Amino acid sequence: MEDRYTYVIVGAGLTGVSAVEGIREVGSDSTILLIGREEDLPYDRPPLSKSLWLGKKQVDEIHLRDRSFFGDKGVDLQLGAEVSALDAKAKTIGTSGGATCRYDKLLLATGGQPRRLDVPGGDLPALFYYRTLADYTRIREQAAAGKSAIVVGGGFIGSEMAAALHSNGVQVTMVYGGPYLVDRVCPADLGRALQADYVSRGITVHAEDVPVAFKDRDGRVAMTTKSGQEIEADFAIVGIGIQPETTLAERAGLEIGNGVVVDEFQRTSEATILAAGDVAAFPYEALGGRMRIEHWDHALHHGKQAGKNMAGADEAYTYMPYFFSDLFEFGYEAVGEVDSRLSVVADWQEEHKTGVLYYLADDMVRGVMLCNVWEKVGEARALIRAAKKVKPEELMGAIK
Ligand SMILES: Cc1cc2nc3c(=O)[nH]c(=O)nc-3n(C[C@H](O)[C@H](O)[C@H](O)COP(=O)(O)OP(=O)(O)OC[C@H]3O[C@@H](n4cnc5c(N)ncnc54)[C@H](O)[C@@H]3O)c2cc1C
Repeated sequence: MEDRYTYVIVGAGLTGVSAVEGIREVGSDSTILLIGREEDLPYDRPPLSKSLWLGKKQVDEIHLRDRSFFGDKGVDLQLGAEVSALDAKAKTIGTSGGATCRYDKLLLATGGQPRRLDVPGGDLPALFYYRTLADYTRIREQAAAGKSAIVVGGGFIGSEMAAALHSNGVQVTMVYGGPYLVDRVCPADLGRALQADYVSRGITVHAEDVPVAFKDRDGRVAMTTKSGQEIEADFAIVGIGIQPETTLAERAGLEIGNGVVVDEFQRTSEATILAAGDVAAFPYEALGGRMRIEHWDHALHHGKQAGKNMAGADEAYTYMPYFFSDLFEFGYEAVGEVDSRLSVVADWQEEHKTGVLYYLADDMVRGVMLCNVWEKVGEARALIRAAKKVKPEELMGAIK
């Protein structure tokens, strides 16, 4: 590590790597430090709950870039290094290893940490909070056919991990507080149909129930739930959402809301410090209002825009990110405000399998979920941006 860089990027995930691309799109005449806590060469997270488990990808295929990319772009890549200090006035960072350096501009691309269960035994070694490639590697060793697992959480990570483990012959029991699978996104009929599909495949589901305690039983986990169930398994995976990693931002005295508060140019309350990706609460131009988005496509574009703006591009972020998930054969892409509390109009070609869901507020389309309907994200974005009042019947066949 040098003692001064033009740009320092804290967090070597998708946002951080995309920022490098953004900086170099604007100019090559600068020095960049990309520093991340994880030991692994930056990688993509979605395969951790999908293709790695289905044999569609191997670990060496999920890296975002080859090591040579960073050299070619003139990036000092420091992995396995924790940034523990940030002084916004002096414009310096410090690592837990004792190194310090100065920056001209800094990007916080620190993502999020899995939310932890605040119950007795919530920190047992056989309880995995799932986020990293290191987590995947450790669980993969345990997840042999014939083993059993408890999956806590029925959102994206819980439902994808249940499918991944089940596909590898692991006996899965799911426990989640919601009434059905992926309840924050799916309307009730779809969520219940997906849940029924999981059950029909042999996954045990305890909906509307939550763990209240875990105990170690000879290296296995024994879970007690609120409704009084006692469930034992070889290991447990917890996927109950993430907390934005705002520790450094707090230390630097930056404005924090639901994440690090940034403007449309990714600037925090301190103009020389930007934040992007999972950690940033940004103004969502197309929908209005401030949001924090924990999705791959947003990390890619927000990170790149932040890099460009660090290097002087001065462009507002107006992109509408999409997100995607795969639950066995049910794959979907979604864009906008896909919130099951909105009024949902369904246009199924095959019920609960193939079709389009429109999420409406004030009779206007705010979000679209494309269920096994592909390459239509652009059309969905146009419909949301149009912000026109529509009647449900006008949406039938609007996207197919
Ligand atoms: C298992 C899994 C599956 C997913 N699947 C999908 C999907 O199907 N579709 C979708 O749209 N999204 C998916 N996502 C979400 C998507 O991967 C995230 O939105 C994206 O990774 C966010 O990127 P990021 O760089 O902002 O944050 P992160 O990926 O969290 O990266 C932040 C990095 O910063 C590091 N860091 C934090 N603090 C410090 C510090 N003080 N010093 C040094 N380093 C630090 C962290 O260790 C981490 O490596 C998935 C996520 C997971 C975990």
